[in-house]
Amino acid sequence: MPQATLARVGLDVGGTSIKAGRIDARGGIEADLAAVDIPRGIDPEGFLRLLVSVARSLEARDSIGIGIPGLIDRQFGGVRKSPNLPYLDQLPLRARVAAELGFDERSVHVENDANAAALGEQWLGAGKGAADLLLLTLGTGVGGGLILGGELYVGDGMGGEIGHVVIAPDGQPCGCGSRGCLEQYASATAARRRALERGLPVSAPGDLKLLAARARDGHAAERALLHEVGIDLGRGLGPVVCLLDLSCFVFGGGFSAALDVLEPGIRAGIRERSFGSRAETTRLLRATLGPSAGWIGAARLAHRAA
Ligand SMILES: [Zn+2]
Repeated sequence: MPQATLARVGLDVGGTSIKAGRIDARGGIEADLAAVDIPRGIDPEGFLRLLVSVARSLEARDSIGIGIPGLIDRQFGGVRKSPNLPYLDQLPLRARVAAELGFDERSVHVENDANAAALGEQWLGAGKGAADLLLLTLGTGVGGGLILGGELYVGDGMGGEIGHVVIAPDGQPCGCGSRGCLEQYASATAARRRALERGLPVSAPGDLKLLAARARDGHAAERALLHEVGIDLGRGLGPVVCLLDLSCFVFGGGFSAALDVLEPGIRAGIRERSFGSRAETTRLLRATLGPSAGWIGAARLAHRAA
């Protein structure tokens, strides 16, 4: 088979749409589809048909990667329980997609969406060339994806969840069942909550542009808040730095647009919770692939396995 046919297709399933595209054999973006809406109330069979039609429209030939939100059951090849996306609930995605497309099941790669985004950023984005990195997505929660030695590292399957590293032992309760998790302090949702608690003006939910803009303009209260949020982020990263000596962190998600104003706080937090000069030398980068990171990383899984 000529090399040119070894293009790899990746799909990224979000809450309301599917992003997808194709990477050529040399690692160039060959096709980047506009997001395809997932109709409200879709059932698992309808969702499967939609996913397969997107894959076919990209001429997926023998291998495919799919990023999905939630905890992946790697034996099952899908999500066992997805309270927010019921069409994924109990759907053996890997087996069903393989059957529909006529692929070997081993050629269908199902991965958590944040993990896929980490791979995407490491392959073609902000972390290009970094063998080790941690991606943090600052959105509704704080998602994470860990790359070690150029490969996704998930441990027994659920690794990389930086959002649930505890920074305040008796802090805010978290949806995961623990308390004081990083995402309760440094997600977009948390930053907005903290701003509202102080009576600071914020823009729409999840959109903290106004807060960041006012901090850049020198408004003291906004600067102080984002410095504190940055410190909390750094407190989450300090133990990671100690454990792994990781020197590259990539920030994605909507709130990462505030990285410039968060950075001094992040470095202060790392300095407080680690040792040596790493608070100064660690690279803190803003993700560059935007909403395409997930499908590109999913395509990477298919590409890598080829
Ligand atoms: Zn948690």
